Amino acid sequence: MANIITDECVNCGACESVCPVGGISSDGSQFVIDATHCTECVGFYHTQQCARVCPVDCSIIDPDNIETEAELFERAKKLNPPGAPELVLSPDTSHFQAHNRTLGGTLRRRVGRWIHGARGDSEPSE
Ligand code: SF4
Ligand code: SF4
Repeated sequence: MANIITDECVNCGACESVCPVGGISSDGSQFVIDATHCTECVGFYHTQQCARVCPVDCSIIDPDNIETEAELFERAKKLNPPGAPELVLSPDTSHFQAHNRTLGGTLRRRVGRWIHGARGDSEPSE
């Protein structure tokens, strides 16, 4: 999946400078994302930076352009400039892994509460 910008874009321009691969530009009437560049920020950030800064939440994952984390990371490596630090995949550089970390943390907390509840212990702090 690459991100796309929907018609709700108010052309504030906030997303253009935060894209790590220079994949956002104005087509004259609206800001657009180049799907051949967008990595969903995989390889760079744990969340899509354009979506993070958008004031109207109009940068969304394109449901018609499904790509795996591996495909997006390969694109990121190709777009990473020569001499730049080597990219690595981690929960800090992939929303796929960040999502899994969040799910894992939630599951661990719930299991912990269940165990402590079954023992009659006080609830662990988060
Ligand atoms: S998701 Fe990341 S890589 Fe894709 S356009 Fe937005 S800022 Fe650029
Ligand atoms: S931040 Fe959102 S509203 Fe502003 S130009 Fe980018 S997509 Fe459009």
